[in-house]
Amino acid sequence: MHKTNRKQDALDYHSNGRPGKIQVVPTKPTNSQRDLTLAYSPGVAEPCLRIADNVDDVYKYTAKSNLVAVITNGTAVLGLGNIGPEAAKPVMEGKGLLFKIYADIDVFDLEVNAKSVDEFVSIVKALEPTFGGINLEDISAPSCFEIERRLKAEMKIPVMHDDQHGTAIISGAALMNACELQGKKLDKIKMVINGAGAAAVSCSKIYLSLGVKRENLVMFDINGLITPDRTDLDEIRLFFATERKDISTLADAMKGADVFIGLSAGNVVTPDMLKGMAKNPIVFAMANPVPEIAYDIGIKARKDILMATGRADFPNQVNNVLGFPYIFRGALDVRATAINEEMKLAAVYAIAELAKKPVPEEVNLAYNTRNLKFGKDYIIPKPMDRRLITEVSSAVAKAAIASGVARKAISDWDAYEERLRL
Ligand code: NAP
Ligand code: MG
Repeated sequence: MHKTNRKQDALDYHSNGRPGKIQVVPTKPTNSQRDLTLAYSPGVAEPCLRIADNVDDVYKYTAKSNLVAVITNGTAVLGLGNIGPEAAKPVMEGKGLLFKIYADIDVFDLEVNAKSVDEFVSIVKALEPTFGGINLEDISAPSCFEIERRLKAEMKIPVMHDDQHGTAIISGAALMNACELQGKKLDKIKMVINGAGAAAVSCSKIYLSLGVKRENLVMFDINGLITPDRTDLDEIRLFFATERKDISTLADAMKGADVFIGLSAGNVVTPDMLKGMAKNPIVFAMANPVPEIAYDIGIKARKDILMATGRADFPNQVNNVLGFPYIFRGALDVRATAINEEMKLAAVYAIAELAKKPVPEEVNLAYNTRNLKFGKDYIIPKPMDRRLITEVSSAVAKAAIASGVARKAISDWDAYEERLRL
């Protein structure tokens, strides 16, 4: 009954009033005939001519600098699979809503009917004049890897596939803090990754950048352990192949492991597997909506465990919304030509650091908690923490400048952060 109500509530939420979740709002006065002659003909010709003279003036006279495209072909929507572009639209509108409420970024959600890599790439590429940035969303692996690689190479505005890098950034911050709390060193931990899809590959790459050693990492896909002799895998996954000969099943691999990363499917890990892990284990069971092992079962299996999931109803939710609004905010504000590794790592460190700072009362109030404090039940900030925008966006903007991809300087960082707080 409860579940049925929730389903109906969700349908009503979307269909009540004006259908969908977003609309377009003018940002200039439109009250008089004069306003309209400025907004459209003949006044509009002036900015057109300026931009025709100097294409960069498009940032000065249009909404481009604050406009992000959330683009999908509907091939890997949430955990729902290849449900098509129309069925993906509520998700993309939702993402637009989050960009707006958390970072005041305007979004056009674009659901395109283009399954082939070539067709999708050429459509997105052609949209460059309109947007300040491109958030690729819910595109299936392995085509998402090539799509992102080509668009990054061929476009001069930031492009990020959030399912890959958003998850990597947030879980990377969570991993750093989890290691600190569990007394482990990133360059020593033995890690098992279950899943070899878009999220798992990108997370593994960022963990390597954070110091995890490739020889200490083993990865599984649905067919089992990834080894160099597998003939069914592309080089992206084979990169993570292990030389270890002493393991074949997930249960084998879990024995003595410090960290389990789940980006696969629900209920594939048992309490016995957790019992075989090293002292003070770290378990990120991030499959959505059903984790690899339920939070309460994990906590019961091991007193010394530190656990995170993708779910909002348990502590330590690994949630991309901690990252993408602020990463794009920082990138747009310095007119970055890319979102590069330096910027992603800056976001990881900023998110990890923020979790260690005293939590403002308003955050406790928002989550009906008393005393959120850095510890096993609070390893990453909460989505409604308004400090995220200042901490993460300015870290990303600074990294863009330092790594040479910024096309616009920020000199007064206090004033910048003050503006972000508004
Ligand atoms: P994906 O590209 O479809 O990848 C799924 C991967 O899991 C594939 O490599 C698949 O193997 C593997 N797999 C499926 N069932 C498995 C099993 N029983 N044992 C081992 N491997 C298995 O999807 P994705 O975007 O990477 O997402 C993966 C999961 O993570 C989803 O549940 C998603 O909801 C979740 N996720 C959570 C977050 C978060 O923030 N909490 C973020 C991103 C993703 P094959 O390659 O052999 O098919
Ligand atoms: Mg997604």
